[in-house]
Amino acid sequence: MNIDSQAVHTGERKPLGRYIPVTTPIYTAASYIYNDIDDLDRVFGQELEGESYARYSNPNSTALEELLTQLEAGAGSLVTSSGMMAIHLAVNAALVDKCKSVVAANALYGATIGLLTRIVEPQGVAIRFTDFNDLDSLRKVIEEEKPGCLLMETISNPLLRVAEIDKIAQMARDAGAVLVVDSTFATPMLCRPMELGAHMVTHSLTKYISGHGDVLGGAVIADADHNQILHATSRTLGPVLGPFECYLASRGAKTYPLRFERQCRNAIQVAGFLENHPGVERIYFPADPKHPDAAIIARLFTPGMFGAIVSFELKRAANKQDVFRFMNALRMIVPATSLGDVHSMILYPLIASHRELSPKHRERMGIRDNLVRLSLGIEAADDVIADLDHALKSC
Ligand SMILES: *Cc1c(COP(=O)(O)O)cnc(C)c1O
Repeated sequence: MNIDSQAVHTGERKPLGRYIPVTTPIYTAASYIYNDIDDLDRVFGQELEGESYARYSNPNSTALEELLTQLEAGAGSLVTSSGMMAIHLAVNAALVDKCKSVVAANALYGATIGLLTRIVEPQGVAIRFTDFNDLDSLRKVIEEEKPGCLLMETISNPLLRVAEIDKIAQMARDAGAVLVVDSTFATPMLCRPMELGAHMVTHSLTKYISGHGDVLGGAVIADADHNQILHATSRTLGPVLGPFECYLASRGAKTYPLRFERQCRNAIQVAGFLENHPGVERIYFPADPKHPDAAIIARLFTPGMFGAIVSFELKRAANKQDVFRFMNALRMIVPATSLGDVHSMILYPLIASHRELSPKHRERMGIRDNLVRLSLGIEAADDVIADLDHALKSC
């Protein structure tokens, strides 16, 4: 099946007694009984598939996991209370029986850097950041650190760099390390990291997959080895996604391919407009022929699609106040955190995603004070362009 068909069918229509609901109802039950206690015994023993207790799973999470496993071509998946929880569980699963060392990409979501430095590192795990677009230096770092886990994003935030996942996966495998890829920005329509050799993929379901700005959730899609460890950890800790949130994410996922196609198309049009605008110093967009990773993008991404995020620097903005003036002048685009929603959104990394990093760390990442990140929604591109044009003239 194509991804569009998978999105609307996979995981749904499980028989319920004599009838079959066309979509999975919301199951609020904390526990489940069977006609024969022997069946419950076998479910507890994990010999029989089924529900037993809400900390382990619920029918809504099971349905959503089935879909995500298929979309990312994994062996299994776990849906979690947030995207951050997904990354945390994936890194933990990667490090079981491995050297307690993580080599992570320099360019990562701000909270992911915080997770590594403030939560993972104090637990005795060595953390080393390096440039994943420089494979020679990455190879040296892997030789030095002998990491148990490599962590990267398919498209980095907010400068939209793309590294060679397939080559990095091979380097990880040669070194006995596990590659975890946060693919929130790319989604499986653009690229499927597990097909390129990654062991685990994480998502913030809050973004494109749910898509309506009304639910927080995450997912880890894993190969067979790690799927087992993930679920064992989850059964003990219960970082699961509740039935209501699963329902919303499943509902959103049905239109994700439609939305993402439109969002990607809007991004191409809006990037073209911004590139030629006198108020814009430079744009960061994967379709840009001058993009430093253009050849990698052409090799790894679905042809004609480049994601739906465009970052750009404001030419006339010298400081925070100037950028605030631009953001305050927007009439339709929502100046909020997050991305991937039906509405276009603009985020200012300095005060949001990368707020907690020191100015020096931001500078090292190439994130300047006049940089904003635009996430395209499903509106008419003309309206987004008109809004940007007006706001650019006011700053
Ligand atoms: C939003 C985001 C996360 C965190 O997800 P939450 O659902 O907010 O916990 C992680 N990685 C990336 C790339 C994100 O955009």
